[in-house]
Amino acid sequence: MSAFDDRSAGTRGGLHQPPTTETALVLFSGGQDSATCLAWALERFGRVETLGFDYGQRHVVELACRDALRARLLREFPRWAPRLGLDHTLELAALGALSETALTRETEITMQADGLPNTFVPGRNLVFMAFAAALAYRRGLKHIVLGVCETDYSGYPDCRDDTVKAMQVALNLGMQARFVLHTPLMWLDKAATWHLAEQLGGAALVELVRAESHSCYRGDRSHAHAWGFGCGECPACELRAKGWQGYRAAPG
Ligand SMILES: [Zn+2]
Repeated sequence: MSAFDDRSAGTRGGLHQPPTTETALVLFSGGQDSATCLAWALERFGRVETLGFDYGQRHVVELACRDALRARLLREFPRWAPRLGLDHTLELAALGALSETALTRETEITMQADGLPNTFVPGRNLVFMAFAAALAYRRGLKHIVLGVCETDYSGYPDCRDDTVKAMQVALNLGMQARFVLHTPLMWLDKAATWHLAEQLGGAALVELVRAESHSCYRGDRSHAHAWGFGCGECPACELRAKGWQGYRAAPG
């Protein structure tokens, strides 16, 4: 599914079909969304590489969750294991140094006058997409998969469908390439994202994502909840908790 195809993953008959021979690069932060996207890509592509960014985020613990998620995917999903390829991590300290946000500084998470939470890191996803494309170019990969979503989100403008579409055009022009930016979660709310995980890998994948993926902005892995670990109070925890409750209230 390209950024120009708005249908959700489950409606295209792509689930449990033989994978293509192509390789995809998944922007893999270790959060619920990117973990689900990784499973989506493993179901669809013959080879999948992952990319994480270290930009001084307060929830750097999510980077450690990436290893646990990858290890359990290898161990518990033999169908996908041969397809899971290299993991890349890029340091983007400059992004953290530039941004005065609650995602990169020890300040209280609040709403700003412009209606965005102060966890918004200006340009973050634009930078991520540009670096992902540069890596994909070097690796000879066409497909880039992002877990961004504008259905059930914090309002970050660089998560929106139009932004991703515009970046796909800009990257293809600027690198003389034909990248396809896939956003399988764009029109799914958080409950539907859990349902997608269930469609892809059953209860085992839901449990893996629930237990090992990380969403909490404060990097809290000490408080256990039904929906996973987190402080339970920050906007990311609230979103995750609400999605989990919606999923559990209406099982697929
Ligand atoms: Zn939290």
